[in-house]
Amino acid sequence: MTQPITRWPFFAFMGGAMFCLLASSTCHLLSCHSERMSYIMLRLDYAGIAALISTSFYPPVYYSFMCDPFFCNLYMGFITLLGISTVLFSLMPVFQNPEFRTIRASLFFGMGLSGVAPILHKLFLFWHHPEAIRTTGYELLMGLFYGLGALVYATRIPERWKPGMFDIAGHSHQLFHILVVAGAYTHYRAGLIYLKWREMQGC
Ligand SMILES: [Zn+2]
Repeated sequence: MTQPITRWPFFAFMGGAMFCLLASSTCHLLSCHSERMSYIMLRLDYAGIAALISTSFYPPVYYSFMCDPFFCNLYMGFITLLGISTVLFSLMPVFQNPEFRTIRASLFFGMGLSGVAPILHKLFLFWHHPEAIRTTGYELLMGLFYGLGALVYATRIPERWKPGMFDIAGHSHQLFHILVVAGAYTHYRAGLIYLKWREMQGC
């Protein structure tokens, strides 16, 4: 017995992920054009990252709390506002200063980390549902990929150990992008479980 449920949170996540990767590719392609272009493109890149993190909350939060509008709106509203604030903050010229490198990484890391609250809440409510456990497994794996990505980005591993050796392949920024794609794909797989769960069970 299945009943169709709305898919917009799932599509919002896929749209956010595609926008992030497209913005990032555009940034890498065009930022060498001029200093002005590089400035604009980096803002687009940050907006893409904020969009990916914010929309990543939509499927787990919506499908976990779709029967509880208060918490559903609370978590969705919180991450949407945080995402918009991060984009606005990243528009400030100071955001690009080298000494802000760690702050930039920490800000995006913190956005992602705030997802621990709805996930723990979901586990508390649905610990006896296998889907809740399986999606949490995927979410832990995703957190590992994104966390490693942020760590590699902030610490510039491995080129800090052997400068010059990773200029063509294997430097931190390439590892960072591979980890982001892995994290987004893991999250996509979790999203499919949420959809199936709610279609089978409803409210
Ligand atoms: Zn990049």
